[in-house]
Amino acid sequence: MSKTYVYFDECFKDHVITLDYPECSARVKNIIDLIKNENLKNITINEPDEIDKNLIYAAHSEEFVNQTLGRFPQNQEIVFLDQETPVSQGSLKATLKAAGAGINACDAIMNNKTKNAFCIVRPPGHHACYDRSMGFCVFNNVAIAARYLINKFNMENIAIIDFDVHHGNGTQDIFYNDPKVHYYSTHQYPLYPGTGDTNEVGVNNMINVPLKSGTSSNEFQKIFDEKIINKLNEQKPNFMIISAGFDAHQNDPLANLKLNENDFKLLTDKLMAVAADHCDNRILSMLEGGYDIQALEQSIIIHLKELQK
Ligand SMILES: [Zn+2]
Repeated sequence: MSKTYVYFDECFKDHVITLDYPECSARVKNIIDLIKNENLKNITINEPDEIDKNLIYAAHSEEFVNQTLGRFPQNQEIVFLDQETPVSQGSLKATLKAAGAGINACDAIMNNKTKNAFCIVRPPGHHACYDRSMGFCVFNNVAIAARYLINKFNMENIAIIDFDVHHGNGTQDIFYNDPKVHYYSTHQYPLYPGTGDTNEVGVNNMINVPLKSGTSSNEFQKIFDEKIINKLNEQKPNFMIISAGFDAHQNDPLANLKLNENDFKLLTDKLMAVAADHCDNRILSMLEGGYDIQALEQSIIIHLKELQK
């Protein structure tokens, strides 16, 4: 059994290639070559399937999904689904495969083909709300995966851990009243999208940990242990999903936290220890943000190296 399945598709490079935007094709352009250069022994790289749209309905309103699917351009035009969410001709396939990667990964993990999985996808998902695309995100990839685990595998105690520097307002929106999913987020605050205060608690399933601009590695790790790891050990989830955004890196142009690659190694190790204790190592990790290309590439490699150990 391979330890870690990686999901990637060349079509992720075709999502809005012409715009000079932080969430750009260059983010994933070289990533598979870089991974291959590492000669990691315990990984298998797979191409994801396009998701069946009925599975998207589990996390989003049917009306919103159908309207959105009808808005993707068939020509060179760029359509803005919201102010920060452009889509191009190549985006429909990328969007369906990004969400499909999570479904394939859930199946592979639940059928014991792999211990864990890492989906290197574009567009990202955690800002996509129940009935609205937002902030580079069309559909909410991790939320769709979580609902699939609930509906297909009767998982009733899922943890989504989101260490992207931005609050995953979309994931919070979708699960705000759903006790089957606990959502844990560390994020710079205040910052886009403006949500994620500690008083946003849902049905005691929302654990928001706002961080001040300039938070250092040491401060972050201490807070992560106290506020995230301890709570996870109380929850004892039976499946863990990571919204893996790497924009808390000190070089990231969109935020001001002071983490480095080694912090992502530590975070990954800590989450893997929780998964080993409570859920037979089951972890699905999906890429969210990260906008300094070199920092993103290095952080992805470190995250993957740990997952496949
Ligand atoms: Zn982000």
